[in-house]
Amino acid sequence: MPSSLKIDESVVEDDAAYPITVTLRHLTEEEATPKQSSTSANGQGTQDGLFRSNLAKDDTQDLLDASKINARANSEEVIHAKYMIGADGAHSWTRNQIGLKLEGDSTDYIWGVLDIVPITDFPDIRMRCAIHSADCGSIMVIPRENKLVRLYIQLTTTNQKAGDNSSRADRSKINPQMILESAQRILAPYKITYRKLDWWTAYQIGQRVGTSFSVLERVFLAGDAVHTHSPKAGQGMNVSMQDSFNLGWKIASVVKGHARRSILKTYQSERRRIAQDLIAFDHKFSRLFSGRPAKDVMDAEGISMEEFKAAFEKGNMFASGIAVNYGASAIVAKEGSSEEQGDGTDVSVAIAKHRVISDQSLCGGITVGMRIPSHKVLSQADARPWHLHEVLPSNGRWRVVVFAGNTNENQQRDKLWKLSEAFSAPDSFLNLYTPKGARSDGVFEVLLIHNAPRQSVTVLDFPEVFRPFDEIDGWDYNKIFVDDVSYHEGFGNIYEALGIPQNGCIVIIRPDQYVSYVGSMEKTAAVNSFFAGFMKEQHVPYEAQPNGTQV
Ligand SMILES: Cc1cc2nc3c(=O)[nH]c(=O)nc-3n(C[C@H](O)[C@H](O)[C@H](O)COP(=O)(O)OP(=O)(O)OC[C@H]3O[C@@H](n4cnc5c(N)ncnc54)[C@H](O)[C@@H]3O)c2cc1C
Repeated sequence: MPSSLKIDESVVEDDAAYPITVTLRHLTEEEATPKQSSTSANGQGTQDGLFRSNLAKDDTQDLLDASKINARANSEEVIHAKYMIGADGAHSWTRNQIGLKLEGDSTDYIWGVLDIVPITDFPDIRMRCAIHSADCGSIMVIPRENKLVRLYIQLTTTNQKAGDNSSRADRSKINPQMILESAQRILAPYKITYRKLDWWTAYQIGQRVGTSFSVLERVFLAGDAVHTHSPKAGQGMNVSMQDSFNLGWKIASVVKGHARRSILKTYQSERRRIAQDLIAFDHKFSRLFSGRPAKDVMDAEGISMEEFKAAFEKGNMFASGIAVNYGASAIVAKEGSSEEQGDGTDVSVAIAKHRVISDQSLCGGITVGMRIPSHKVLSQADARPWHLHEVLPSNGRWRVVVFAGNTNENQQRDKLWKLSEAFSAPDSFLNLYTPKGARSDGVFEVLLIHNAPRQSVTVLDFPEVFRPFDEIDGWDYNKIFVDDVSYHEGFGNIYEALGIPQNGCIVIIRPDQYVSYVGSMEKTAAVNSFFAGFMKEQHVPYEAQPNGTQV
């Protein structure tokens, strides 16, 4: 268990330094494997783990104190690290150590959660739905495995004053019977009870977001450690995982020496903005849940069903991550101010000549800053259909995807060969930023999706930059795709679905599948400029790189 954290601020900008020192204290076997309380028949026991969730009190200090009096006291380990991520939940020890604060309030609403096998005459109990009663509050129904159903039930409100964060629900006064009775009032005239209770809790949630997501871009916070909100829309875990997904590849590319440290600031500008938007949405969603439904269209003070449904759908978009649209920055080439489109952090390109702006009007179905939608394409070499996302695995590589149109037409073929010459030139992004001697696709993968009839061309008709040669493995057959009909799985029609023009375009996709740039096939210089804004020129041969650096 960590007991201290220090950052040597004098070396934070030194790429080779290990500015973080964390001391770990060993716990006893008993402390490390606490007894799990099984569910009791009356539901009074709850399942817990070593460090309980944000529903339990913070017992970090108790565990640390206990470890001092056992046989392994003073058994410590010291870790020196370049970077550290505190994904240690709402009571985050890391957050406390680095002195970052959460801003916001506790909500007024107390919610009960029951995981039960329901006995009910409510016909939609196996549907994910929300029941909004006339004046007894709301229930959210989430069908689960083994006939279980999770019910989120609004219980009551506290008398909390605005800004008074000390007021917490007294959960000791709440029991499963009280929660069930609330559910029965909301569901009436339908009836509900249970004999099997798997788990229950009651909570009053804080809607809070961190004032900053990192210290000196060396120690980062992710997940509940930097944002908490109500679990009703099922977003906490999704948004938390997306934090780490956003941060992981950025730290990896800096540690490997591919990208400059400046890209790390985009973590806060992108993810803190999402957390702020989510909390604003959560405020609205909680109000809709707790408010009185409108009696009819003239009832201006009631909540309209349309408004409720729209918020429900927006919540689903948050949960899946497909509504996320990152703002302009060094790694998202679009119009506008990075401060306004993010959380206020300046993440624009440091050198003005490297500022690149996409031609967003080129492809109607691709939005710069959002994930590229996935449609099926065929491998040129073997006609096997692939979903586009399957050929963009999250392995830290950037993708430069060239939609070349019908390459049987002279104009498109000429453009493609010119583009490949530019990509292969000694001063191209491929040659400047891929370590000498590393795999040619170790940092960037250059992919081609054309729409000439598949059987009218072969892999070998295309420039070598799309089928790099390896002395042992031969030609690479996995980088050229075609928008054509498959033998057994229909037609992905990706050109039409993404609005790709017949004269083609270049799309740069980040390692996390968000679109960085869209431009015409002629704009190869813009691709070089884009990467010059944050990548590091590689002069050291791959073999001579520091230990542990792999491409
Ligand atoms: C009742 C309820 C229902 C929810 N339902 C949903 C849902 O349906 N969908 C959804 O997306 N989200 C849901 N959430 C939210 C979701 O659970 C959280 O947002 C998510 O778990 C946050 O993940 P995390 O990794 O940031 O933190 P946590 O899941 O809290 O994980 C933190 C981890 O850090 C460990 N830890 C803490 N301190 C230390 C330490 N000092 N040293 C070492 N380890 C430490 C803990 O043991 C824990 O394993 C729900 C939350 C609640 C309370």
